[in-house]
Amino acid sequence: MMTKYLEISHMPTIWCSGCGNGIVMNTMLRAFEEEALTPDNTVIVSGIGCSSRMPGYLTFPSVHTAHGRAIPFATGLKMARPDLNIVIVSGDGDAAAIGGNHLIHACRRNLDLTLIIINNETYGMTNGQFSPLTPIGSFSSTSEYGSIDRPFDVMKLCAAAGATYAARSSVYHTEQLKRFISEGTRNHGFSVIECLSICPTHYGKDNGFSDPVEMMNFLRDNCTWMGKDGKRKKYCMDLGVFCGESAPEYSDEYAKMRDRVRLL
Ligand code: SF4
Repeated sequence: MMTKYLEISHMPTIWCSGCGNGIVMNTMLRAFEEEALTPDNTVIVSGIGCSSRMPGYLTFPSVHTAHGRAIPFATGLKMARPDLNIVIVSGDGDAAAIGGNHLIHACRRNLDLTLIIINNETYGMTNGQFSPLTPIGSFSSTSEYGSIDRPFDVMKLCAAAGATYAARSSVYHTEQLKRFISEGTRNHGFSVIECLSICPTHYGKDNGFSDPVEMMNFLRDNCTWMGKDGKRKKYCMDLGVFCGESAPEYSDEYAKMRDRVRLL
C-alpha cells in the first residue's frame, strides 16, 4: 500500500541488511496515511547520516540539509509556510550532538514541527563512533575499551526543554511507534519521537550481537513500558509518552505579534 510514496527509481536503499531504517520509514508512512499527510501538504527535512537518507526514497517534497542543521532548515520552512506539515528525520548523532543546541531551543520555542530521532546508538554512516545516546560501557570505534560517557535520556532532555510531545518506541514495537508518530503530527507544537533502532553493522558487531534478529529480540526482552511496573530495566529503554502538554505555538505567536505591529 505504501509503495505509492516510494521513489522506486532510487531503490534499493543504501541501508545494510537488517537495518531498522526501513521499518521506521514504513511505519512513518502508515502514520502519514492515517493523518492524511500527503506529498501535497507535507515536507520531510533531514540532516546527515544513514537515517537522513530516507527522504530521498520518498515522493514527498524534501530537503536533505547539513549535519545537525535539519531543525534550523525546518524552522525557516515552517515560518514561511505555516500551512505545511513539516516532519524531520534525524539520527542520534545528528539530533543530539551536532544538532543538540538546535534541539533544545526548538523544544523551548514549541514551533509546530515533528522530529523523528532514529536512535541507532552510534554514528553508523561514518564507521561507528559513539554518540551522546550510546549506552555507557558500549564498545565502538572511538571507545575500544567501553564508553565511559553517560548518555542523554533524550526524552527527558526534550521534555525538560519544553517540547509539548515526547515519546519513545522501538523498531520492534511498530504499532506504538505508529501511534506516537500520529500523535506527534497532530500535536500543534514541537514533537519528538525517538525510535530505538540499534545499528547491527557497527553497534551490533562491536557489542556481541550475532545478527539483527538477536537485536530485535533484545529490544523485545529489554524494553519496558512506562507505568507498567514503574521500573527501568535498562537506561533509556523505557518506552511510552514522556510529555504531552499544550503551550503557545511559535508561528501562531509570531503571527499575533506581526498583526500587533501592523496596527501600531
Ligand atoms: Fe543501518 Fe547501521 Fe547500516 Fe547505517 S550502518 S544503514 S544504521 S545498519
